[in-house]
Amino acid sequence: MTHIIDMTGRQFGRLTVIERAGRRPNGNATWRCQCTCGNTCVVDGHRLRVGETTSCGCLQREQSRRNLLANPATRKRMGDYHLLAKKWHPTTTELRSSNQSGITGVSFDKRRQKWIAHLYYKGRYVLNESFEDKADAIAARQAAERKYLA
Ligand SMILES: [Zn+2]
Repeated sequence: MTHIIDMTGRQFGRLTVIERAGRRPNGNATWRCQCTCGNTCVVDGHRLRVGETTSCGCLQREQSRRNLLANPATRKRMGDYHLLAKKWHPTTTELRSSNQSGITGVSFDKRRQKWIAHLYYKGRYVLNESFEDKADAIAARQAAERKYLA
């Protein structure tokens, strides 16, 4: 029988061990932990000791969100959505109209089956991106307009 190290009360990152939870089929002891975020979770003791698990999962969620926000393109697009929600409310008719967007700087690429948003500014394309969704292309173009033409 594998020796069980009592880990009750010990802290691993955001997790504090509350009690022994059970045993995995492979023999590893599992522990119920209290996370600083308020969740409880059951974690493999080995994973706690080697520092593999330091939260109920909230840490990873925060980190992936941070990574997402650290990416300038994503951040820009998310910013656009915020502005979009405030300033621009497309109607269904606008979005349905035809193949062409009717909006300057946004056109449909039939070959690639994508919406292209572009903005030519001071001799170069400051925006030239393709989107699955027309609304996204329009948002990108409008964001670029605000950035360069405002
Ligand atoms: Zn948590």
